[in-house]
Amino acid sequence: MKDSPAAQFHVSGRPPEIPPGATGVVVVDAGQVAMNWLALKRLVAPADCAAVVKADAYGLGVAAIVPALVRAGCTTFFVATPDEAAEVRLLARDSEIFVLDGAVPGSEALLDDIRAVPVLASLAEVKAWAKGAEEKRRPRPAALNLDTGLNRLGLSEAEVLELQRDKRTLAALDLRLVMSHLASADDPDDPKNAAQRARFEKLKAMLPYARASLAASDGLMLGKPFHYDLVRPGYALYGGQAFRGGPAPVAPAVRVAARILQVREVPAGGTVGYSGTWTATRPARIAIVAAGYADGFARTASAPQGHPGGEVRVGGTLAPIVGRVSMDLITVDVTDVPAGADRGAAVELIGPGLTIEQAGQRAGTIGYEVLTRLGRRFKRVYVGG
Ligand SMILES: *Cc1c(COP(=O)(O)O)cnc(C)c1O
Repeated sequence: MKDSPAAQFHVSGRPPEIPPGATGVVVVDAGQVAMNWLALKRLVAPADCAAVVKADAYGLGVAAIVPALVRAGCTTFFVATPDEAAEVRLLARDSEIFVLDGAVPGSEALLDDIRAVPVLASLAEVKAWAKGAEEKRRPRPAALNLDTGLNRLGLSEAEVLELQRDKRTLAALDLRLVMSHLASADDPDDPKNAAQRARFEKLKAMLPYARASLAASDGLMLGKPFHYDLVRPGYALYGGQAFRGGPAPVAPAVRVAARILQVREVPAGGTVGYSGTWTATRPARIAIVAAGYADGFARTASAPQGHPGGEVRVGGTLAPIVGRVSMDLITVDVTDVPAGADRGAAVELIGPGLTIEQAGQRAGTIGYEVLTRLGRRFKRVYVGG
């Protein structure tokens, strides 16, 4: 293990190389995503493990991620939209693909065509989907989302009761999955977890038998009673650690680096960036780094405003962003950085010493948003697939 490319990917202290034409790079380790999936699958066995690859595999790129997961043995995928399902179908021909946004009006023919299974979330939606099945004279594959307290998508208890009595609608469905989604799974001490599980038990017992799924990345960390037949992790596959009860058995799969374009001396009293929001209180060295909000670097990572403000790693040392994040540039105070703050050098925005959780927290957001917003301008390099 120690010498595998994936291991080197994590222990290497140096930021990744940036290709000549680019000022920044996103290095995605598709092999590590597959290893994370295998680790979660082992953790939940004998339950099955799906992969949530919505939003272009959380911004990392389905074209590399899905084939790596298929090779590892993954046969069940979740996406949000019909178009995402169509994309995954081309990459995973024999898999089961669930569409979390359901049978969006007008998308029914596409869903049939690509053999995608909509996750139906209201009685009206269930009836509309079943009606199409009657016209085809053949049960239509469907999953049901039951609301157990999140109050987002999902059938209410009253709707489940009505569906229970509607034998004709039920007969028109080839029920592949009943599922629900937890509101507070990141906090193992939140009583809402057990309450939602109890509601899930009650509601699914009112319906014909189907495979059941309740847990995403954090929910599967709550233990066996939450696993049911299938777990649906997304964030943890990409190395995310959102669970507050202890680390998930996964490792980071993405590194992001950008170049220093210039290092300048700013005298005490000089301000940096738009609107002069930061003033040097001593003679300062400021590195101008080629990453901005157009690259997905949150503007809320500008210097302190209710949350800590962003940092980057320069020559292995964490250094604070000062002044405003602009479209193409950030300004970093490297006065106290002993080495590595040189024109052309790469600084690490995400990596072993600066996780997506840390980056999110310092920008007043979460790692999920950091991942899914990684921009298109940085060069993408895929390793380990
Ligand atoms: C996005 C999503 C998931 C995956 O959640 P993670 O926290 O990324 O594991 C699972 N289920 C549903 C319904 C989702 O919307």
